[in-house]
Amino acid sequence: MPPGHEAVEGSCHCGAVKIRAASMPKDLNDCQCEHCQKRGALWGYYALDQIEINGPTSVYIWGPSLREFHFCTTCGMTTHWWPIDAGSIPWMGLNARVFGRDVFQQIPVKKGD
Ligand SMILES: [Zn+2]
Repeated sequence: MPPGHEAVEGSCHCGAVKIRAASMPKDLNDCQCEHCQKRGALWGYYALDQIEINGPTSVYIWGPSLREFHFCTTCGMTTHWWPIDAGSIPWMGLNARVFGRDVFQQIPVKKGD
């Protein structure tokens, strides 16, 4: 089976938030902006219909960003961001750390912004 064509599942640290992605991300973004550097996420990007997220999250919205940053209400782990306006940003960012290190450490990482 070639990589990137199998659904993959993950969760936050406590397991309350469950994630199912249509495939593995081809690469991850270690975003260099100040916000993401403090947040500590490794972003994999998906079309909005390629991901299912179930479980209680709280949202942080940071001034100039057009994204809602979601984190588990119990363990606080950042799980993903979702666009406030899917018309201008028709994709989302998943913190690939939800897959666990045995999985996400196999994915190449870029340093973007
Ligand atoms: Zn949790």
